[in-house]
Amino acid sequence: MTAILSKYAEIVGWDVIDQLHQLVDPLKGIKVVHVNSTKQGGGVAEILNKLVPIKKELGIDVSWEVIEGNAEFFKCTKNFHNALQGNKVEIPHSLLKSYEEVNRQNAERLRARLEEAEFVFIHDPQPAPLLSYCPDRKGKWIWRCHIDASRPYRAIWKYLSNFITGYDASIFSLAAFAQALPHKEYLVPPSIDPLSEKNIDLDRQEIEAVVGGLGIDLDRQIMLQVSRFDTFKDPVGVIHAYRLTKKFVPSLQLILAGGEATDDPESQTVLDEVRTAAGGDRDIHILLLPADAHRTINALQRAADIVLQKSTREGFGLTVTEAMWKGKPVIGGDTGGIRIQVVNHQTGFLVNTPEGAALRTRYLLFHRDLLLEMGAKARNFVRENFLLTRHLREYLTLMVSLLHGRGDRIELD
Ligand code: UDP
Repeated sequence: MTAILSKYAEIVGWDVIDQLHQLVDPLKGIKVVHVNSTKQGGGVAEILNKLVPIKKELGIDVSWEVIEGNAEFFKCTKNFHNALQGNKVEIPHSLLKSYEEVNRQNAERLRARLEEAEFVFIHDPQPAPLLSYCPDRKGKWIWRCHIDASRPYRAIWKYLSNFITGYDASIFSLAAFAQALPHKEYLVPPSIDPLSEKNIDLDRQEIEAVVGGLGIDLDRQIMLQVSRFDTFKDPVGVIHAYRLTKKFVPSLQLILAGGEATDDPESQTVLDEVRTAAGGDRDIHILLLPADAHRTINALQRAADIVLQKSTREGFGLTVTEAMWKGKPVIGGDTGGIRIQVVNHQTGFLVNTPEGAALRTRYLLFHRDLLLEMGAKARNFVRENFLLTRHLREYLTLMVSLLHGRGDRIELD
């Protein structure tokens, strides 16, 4: 029994852990590589930081590689992200060429490792072309899409799908994101690690010290959104919702906590917009946290009265899961992965406008008993559906099935 997994047994029960051990048996010693575009910042890095060590501990020879790109590359891939989430963006040919060239160069660097691996998981569009530069690959390649690809801008999806059709399988977070591809598609929602610094229990003293130290008054109501500064997270809409609520709750404070994902070239522009919208309001706290401020985020989520995730598009929304695990009902945008976490009126509220967010915020602030009741349901919902152990089980099952399955390919006509 591994040391890490026995700790999870206290939270999820021994049956779950025993099942993981059975599943991993045929996978012991196999080589697995994950490739994404950043070590820190954003949900993908957050997940890999947890999944990789635990797979290692289970006896899988797993490594995590990060694609090295230049400014043009990240500009291009940010455009892909926006296009897959539905924005009509035209990407100049020169940027597409940089994208392909960066992948070619990274393939040179990583080829030996990638070609010998039994499984290669390629996360999101940034490293997708690596497959085409590894002609002698031996293993199964899986494209893992973390983005809300429910309504992609077709021209860009068409370009990207040229790189993706050659994969053996794809994974999407929910059914609504799945695309027509000529291979097996799996649905695997992400997860959080209940034992990580971001999610472990904290005592009240620590919460007070951390949050008070940031100049926030714990005796007054706190509204919080934790997110990268990205238009799809709608931070300006959150400020609007706060202003509408403050008319009724004058002592309300707002915290917008974010940092920079190293692969996001647009965050400064969004941050400038947020600062302008906040004006000189001393009760709006814009926090630029370092990438490893997990315990601070944990304390903020625990101290908050109301947690918002007012995204207009959302691949999954780990911040929603994190807050729910801390017993907070979440007021979230009615979109993407938020919809499978926020069960309307049960584990939170789904909203479409700042006005809707303000209405629900006010309602919860004035109905504390309900806030606690919904918060307890939210925590249970996460325990049953969105913890790392469930995620790991689905990854292991998927690998076993690809290794031993007949490898059927679904042909498109
Ligand atoms: N996060 C963080 N620092 C920040 C902002 C976000 O550590 O300043 C974390 C957040 O706690 C969550 C992840 O980054 O674990 C964001 O994942 P999510 O799925 O919510 O959004 P993404 O950034 O992937 O679009």
